[in-house]
Amino acid sequence: MEELNFLAVETPGERLKIMKEFSVRFHKRASEIDEKGLFPFENIRELIDSGYTMLTIPREYGGVEISLYELVRLQEEMAAGDGSTALSMGWHMSVVYNLFEKKTWPEETLSFLVKEISTGALINSAASEKETGSPTRGGKPVTAAEKSGDGWIINGRKVFTTLAPMLDYFIVSATIAETGETGNFLIPRMTKGVHIEETWDSLAMRGTASHDLLLENVRLEKEAFVEKIRPGQKAPNGGLLHVPACYLGIAGAAKNYAVDFAKRYSPNSITGPIIQLPEVKNRIGEMEILHMQSKHFLYSVAGLWDSAHPEKRSGLGPELAAVKYSVTNAAIKIVDLAMRVVGAGSLSMKCPLQRYYRDVRAGLHNPPMDDVTLKVLADRAAEING
Ligand SMILES: Cc1cc2nc3c(=O)[nH]c(=O)nc-3n(C[C@H](O)[C@H](O)[C@H](O)COP(=O)(O)OP(=O)(O)OC[C@H]3O[C@@H](n4cnc5c(N)ncnc54)[C@H](O)[C@@H]3O)c2cc1C
Repeated sequence: MEELNFLAVETPGERLKIMKEFSVRFHKRASEIDEKGLFPFENIRELIDSGYTMLTIPREYGGVEISLYELVRLQEEMAAGDGSTALSMGWHMSVVYNLFEKKTWPEETLSFLVKEISTGALINSAASEKETGSPTRGGKPVTAAEKSGDGWIINGRKVFTTLAPMLDYFIVSATIAETGETGNFLIPRMTKGVHIEETWDSLAMRGTASHDLLLENVRLEKEAFVEKIRPGQKAPNGGLLHVPACYLGIAGAAKNYAVDFAKRYSPNSITGPIIQLPEVKNRIGEMEILHMQSKHFLYSVAGLWDSAHPEKRSGLGPELAAVKYSVTNAAIKIVDLAMRVVGAGSLSMKCPLQRYYRDVRAGLHNPPMDDVTLKVLADRAAEING
């Protein structure tokens, strides 16, 4: 199979071309991954080998430092091939993007992480717990960190740890027993007491292997405590636009499938294909509008983020949340419309639309949640109106 290398090219256009090739490859594997609930090892390995994980690392650390706009575009294209691969890789990319954009971690830890990533390491945030539900709603982690000599002992269970089979590092939120404060701990996979329990049995995004992470008397050096979490003061992470990008990519694939079907399907009750029928045209037109609105909203906010001075980005939280809300809900509608165009055949397990239908649903349960977004927007509107 042809070697695809993001580091051997220079421009965003060339990198997009490479991702389009990956996307076609991933699409061919997507149905088996979904049907058997497999983790897409091959896809993720090929992305690492192609240098993809170096793209969001700043130039001063030896990376390519692509813009948020470009990251989002590449993630959307990946998702058109396979949603599970895109959501999984998207978490790693957005975590790394945010770490180097904010630089709230000690410099030595960041430099160490770059070395690890350059040799293929993957990282994700393990923040969700059964007891807290979505961390976006402000629940305090039950996972506990206790001081032990100069270091720490961590105990707890995290749920929904996407990419679990290939993660080398977990960013684990925990409550510090002595102070009641919360913080993030960087935990290497190979540490004694770190286990993955294969609990992921979801009907959507089946390939993300978002299993439970068990932490049993995990002993860490003091440097593992990388940052305090200050409730209500979390600066927005532009990298989280990988989430709406993922669902837009899936919706785009559904739209293309339906349009292609409508151009080819010619039942003997009419002359020619169904694309000429007014009701089919209406549905396709509606899909187009939703898709166009989503694309423009997503990329306009990504561009706004890129062009804003880093200090001004802290005010863009409501925009990021609104994009996630709007694009994810539009993606669900687009897939629904695509299935109405195709008819009962869309329910066949052989048809990719049934997978898109299940996968886009997961977007409702990725952060920020719709209710949180509506509250943020309502609060801001109230502030504006004084
Ligand atoms: C495919 C996928 C991948 C994921 N990957 C990761 C990952 O890599 N790392 C990670 O940490 N997490 C991950 N998550 C978890 C995700 O971020 C959420 O924590 C998880 O989906 C639970 O969110 P929830 O809204 O269902 O849960 P809850 O917050 O428990 O909400 C459940 C219901 O209760 C209601 N509710 C609960 N509390 C409140 C409240 N205070 N106010 C109002 N309503 C409330 C809500 O309306 C909701 O309907 C992933 C989730 C999915 C689906």
